[in-house]
This record gives sequence, structure tokens and C-alpha cells, in this order.
Amino acid sequence: MNLIELIEIKEEQVGGTYPQVIEKNKQRKKLCERCKLNGKKEIAKYNVYDFEDELVEQLCEACTNSVSEDVDISKIIY
Ligand SMILES: [Zn+2]
Repeated sequence: MNLIELIEIKEEQVGGTYPQVIEKNKQRKKLCERCKLNGKKEIAKYNVYDFEDELVEQLCEACTNSVSEDVDISKIIY
């Protein structure tokens, strides 16, 4: 009897966790900072670290291609 109860609780937790994970991933999507300044909503795809200004921008593909060369680019994994 105790064993059956345990299994039931476990399944409930697994079923309840799945939609929450998706919700979290949605919230993590960042908009491209440069496009945002122009009133556009593009999903940022890359973290671009500017060595000169020592700042990180989150940019879409098009904006990443137009940054200066002195940067470190890493893909944002959603
Ligand atoms: Zn952009």
C-alpha cells in the first residue's frame, strides 16, 4: 500500500513539472538590444562581449554581423 502511494506521487510530480519547464524557457528568451532601440522585436541569438567597452549585448544574427571585430561572440542556448 505504501509503495503504490509513493509511485502515484512521483508520477504526479513529473507530469506537473513539464509545462513549468517550457514556461521558464519562454521567459528566458531575450530580445535583441539593438533592434529594441529601433522598435523592432527580434529574438537575441548571441551574447556579444565587447572588449573595448567591457559590456555584453544580446543581439540577433543581423546585429551580431554588424558589430566591430573586437568582440567575443557566444551563442545563447534557449
Ligand atoms: Zn538585432
